[in-house]
Amino acid sequence: MIVLGLETSCDETAAAVVDCDRRVLAQKLLSQYDEHRPYGGVVPEIAARAHLDHLDGLVAEALRVAGVRLTDLDAVAATGGPGLIGGVIVGVMTAKALALASGRPFVAVNHLEAHALTARLTDAVSFPYLLLLVSGGHCQFLEVRGVGAYRRLGTTIDDAAGECFDKTAKMMGLGHPGGPALERAAAEGDPDRFALPRPMRGRPGCDVSFSGLKTATRQVLDTLPPGPLSARDLADLAAGVQGAVADVLEERTGRAMTRMDQDGTAGSAPTLVVAGGVAANQTLRARLNALCAVRGWAFVAPPLGLCTDNAAMVAWAGLERLRLGLTDPLDFRPRPRWPLDPDAPKRTGAGV
Ligand code: ATP
Ligand code: MG
Ligand code: FE
Repeated sequence: MIVLGLETSCDETAAAVVDCDRRVLAQKLLSQYDEHRPYGGVVPEIAARAHLDHLDGLVAEALRVAGVRLTDLDAVAATGGPGLIGGVIVGVMTAKALALASGRPFVAVNHLEAHALTARLTDAVSFPYLLLLVSGGHCQFLEVRGVGAYRRLGTTIDDAAGECFDKTAKMMGLGHPGGPALERAAAEGDPDRFALPRPMRGRPGCDVSFSGLKTATRQVLDTLPPGPLSARDLADLAAGVQGAVADVLEERTGRAMTRMDQDGTAGSAPTLVVAGGVAANQTLRARLNALCAVRGWAFVAPPLGLCTDNAAMVAWAGLERLRLGLTDPLDFRPRPRWPLDPDAPKRTGAGV
C-alpha cells in the first residue's frame, strides 16, 4: 500500500510518499520562513499563495524520487484541517484533483492526528499510548486508543507551548520561528537567574497554562536596560523560559501518567509519545525521557524533522485511515477548526 500525503496547513509546503512497511519513499518540504520573517509571524494570505506556487512542483518531485506514478498510489491524502484555511484549501483541492485524475480515493487527514500517529510510522508504537501533543497551536494530553479514538486528559486553558516560545522569543528580539531560536539562545544560559512562574504546577488535573509566563517574561524585560539584550541576559532569559515550560510540562505529564495508571488505561506496556513542533526541543525531550525512566514507562519521540510539520506524517495518517476503509468524498469541506477528541472545549488554545 502506497500513499501520497500533502501538508499545507501553516507555513510548510510538503509532499511525501510512504508505504505500509513504514518506509518514507520520498519527502519534500519547503519552509516559508523567509516570506514571513519581515512580519515576525505567519501571514495567512502569503502562506496560501506560497503553497499554491510550490505544491505542484513538490508533488512531482516526491513522486519522481519515490519512483512511483500516480496510478501506483493507493490513495491521496492531505491535511484537511485544522489550520490556516487558505493553505488547507490549496492542499485539499490539489489532493482531490490528483485523486480524481488517478481514480484513487481521497483521505482528509486531521493535522493533529497526523502528529499523533507519527510515532507509529517511526517506532511502530502500538495502541494505547499517552500523547503529549505540543505544537504551535496546541498543547494537549490525549489517551490514544486507536485511529480516530482519542480521550482528552488535559489541554491548555490559554496559549499553546509553541506559541509561548514564539511570543517570548519575539519579545527578546529573536527571529521567527521563535522555538528553535530560543532553544539555541538558551544553550549557555542560567535557567535560574530570573524567577519565572510555573503556571498550574501542583494543581489537580492535567490542564496547562502559558499566558502568565509570557506576561512574566515581559516584566523581566522591563527591568533590563532598554535596547537589544546583552548576550548574557538573552541566554539567561531564554533558558529561564525554556526551563519553566519544561518544568510545567514534566509535572503535568506525570499527572497524566498517574491518571492512566490508576484508571487502567495505560495498558500492559505504558508508553508516552511526544509529538508536534515543540517536541523537537532537546530540554523537553530529556525531561520527559527521565520522567519515563523513573516511572517505568517507555518514551518515544520521533526524529526532529518528523516532529515539526511535514508530509510524511500526513501520508502515514492517510494510510492508517485507508487501511480501515476511512476515505473521504470529494465534496469534503476543509475544516479550519477540527478537534481530535469528541469532548474538546470550545477553545483549545489560540491559533487553530
Ligand atoms: P499545530 O500543529 O498546532 O497546527 P503548527 O503546525 O504551526 O501548529 P508545528 O509545526 O507542529 O506547529 O510546530 C511549530 C511550533 O514548534 C512553533 O511554535 C515552533 O516555535 C515550535 N518549535 C519548533 N522547534 C522547536 C524547538 N526546538 N524548541 C521549542 N519549540 C520549537
Ligand atoms: Mg510551521
Ligand atoms: Fe503541526
